[in-house]
Amino acid sequence: MVITFDFDDTLRLTKLLRDEDGDIAGIDYSGDEPNPVVFPEFEAALDRGDTVYVVTSRSEKTSTEVKNWLKRKLITRSATGEVLKDRFELLAGIRFTGGELKRDTLLSLGSQLHYDDDEVEGEALESTPIQWVRAPLHRSWRPAAAETEGEEGQYLPEGLVRLWVRALVRSGA
Ligand SMILES: [Mg+2]
Repeated sequence: MVITFDFDDTLRLTKLLRDEDGDIAGIDYSGDEPNPVVFPEFEAALDRGDTVYVVTSRSEKTSTEVKNWLKRKLITRSATGEVLKDRFELLAGIRFTGGELKRDTLLSLGSQLHYDDDEVEGEALESTPIQWVRAPLHRSWRPAAAETEGEEGQYLPEGLVRLWVRALVRSGA
């Protein structure tokens, strides 16, 4: 099976920054935290031997940053630096669409299942055979009370909810 994963928020969480008044002040892309729902699915797909790509709309200029983060999370080392487990080498590739929608890239890779937090990316897959699983965002993205109207995002609760994603995949939601 070919499975594709978006990078920002889907594999590596970003955080929404607010000022003292609660107004949005920016996005923190420097975090190190993997998405606790999706990252275990990513590792499991690699372990199963699925064909796994990371597909991001980032520019290729950020490829070193993306690769280094993935290596840090996918290569387990002992205290002395010896490699115990290397899942990075199981990755089929990383694609950068440079701001373009991912749809055509995903189709050309033969993706059957794509994890992405971005609703626009998900909706673009509706007329394709690719199933979209929406990745939940870090809870800092939860809108302030005054902003909730019409908001349909998904946000991480305090705990892990892997089973929830499994159920989504099974039901085709
Ligand atoms: Mg994203």
